[in-house]
Amino acid sequence: MKKHNFSAGPSILPQEVFEKAAQAVLDFKGSGLSLLEISHRSKDFVAVMEEARTLALELLGLTGKGYQALFLSGGASLEFLRVPYNLMTLHGKAAYLDTGTWAAGAIKEAKQFGDTIVVASSKADNYTYIPKDYTIPEDADYFHCTSNNTIFGTQMFSFPETKVPVVCDMSSDIFSRQLDFSKFDLIYAGAQKNMGPAGTTLIIVKEEILGKTGRQIPNILDYKQHIDKESMYNTPSVFAIYTSYLTLQWLKENGGITVMEKKNDAKAALLYAEIDRNPLFQGTSNAEDRSKMNVTFLLKDEAHTEQFDKIWKAKGISGLPGHRSVGGYRASIYNAMPIESVQVLVEAMQDLEKSV
Ligand SMILES: *Cc1c(COP(=O)(O)O)cnc(C)c1O
Repeated sequence: MKKHNFSAGPSILPQEVFEKAAQAVLDFKGSGLSLLEISHRSKDFVAVMEEARTLALELLGLTGKGYQALFLSGGASLEFLRVPYNLMTLHGKAAYLDTGTWAAGAIKEAKQFGDTIVVASSKADNYTYIPKDYTIPEDADYFHCTSNNTIFGTQMFSFPETKVPVVCDMSSDIFSRQLDFSKFDLIYAGAQKNMGPAGTTLIIVKEEILGKTGRQIPNILDYKQHIDKESMYNTPSVFAIYTSYLTLQWLKENGGITVMEKKNDAKAALLYAEIDRNPLFQGTSNAEDRSKMNVTFLLKDEAHTEQFDKIWKAKGISGLPGHRSVGGYRASIYNAMPIESVQVLVEAMQDLEKSV
């Protein structure tokens, strides 16, 4: 039986995407060849890459607005350094908001390139909230933030107004909610949270911000090179990109981001309502910053752990333990998760309440 998979990443994808991806591995478009054994420069794969890039921009409402979409390798973690390489001027500076482990990872890499100003941090409170009062220096080359903190279960619901280019790591909430994406100059997202399998990263970049640093950038790390080569500078991750493309198609066929956002809101509301109602549980993040993608919570009394774990496992739930650095529980409720699975988790929490 298929599990209710709350894993944070790699994570759940629509069942029909799994099926179509599996089919393509066996026989890609009736060609008698596997997706995995054809040239990435074949007509069929070039078309996939082109359509995937077009569709990503279309879903975000960025078509014809000076943006390019790339599917590159190295994970979101490589963008931690590719961003400063491409955007931080020699002797320049960049501003970062420190809202979690991934944000801190991005900051650490940026420091190797130049003056990296942390405009605010919630680290001292174990990243339980999103700092809101901070100033972005007007002479910064860019401002970097993380829209959703996968590990701590917080999410940004407002973004600063600033004249400097805004860069955002949207790995765990891209395509989950409507935003004015044209307010961002560079967005990146590792596929394996809400879009596809591990192995590719979607990068959306406004072309006009590139080429201004005075740095010599190695080709493989240069966004411009990748744009010029239509995201085929080197062999792309064909399977991850094709599967991400299938998910984007699924998203479009199912009403796009606005419809998805309504479903995501309903799932998050259902789960947070139970966390707040059930006397055995408590949420771990600041109420107004609660993530609609990664719902983090604890048992008030750890003595119930064994019993709760038994209950949810028996219901076919998987992937619920929190990140190893924070413990507790984390229910990742990405786009592909049906509300019925969230309902099963709520029932598990209620079953525990009845049993103690
Ligand atoms: C998972 C994650 C990353 C790291 O992604 P990799 O693809 O493993 O490099 C970075 N940022 C956020 C917000 C994430 O959730």
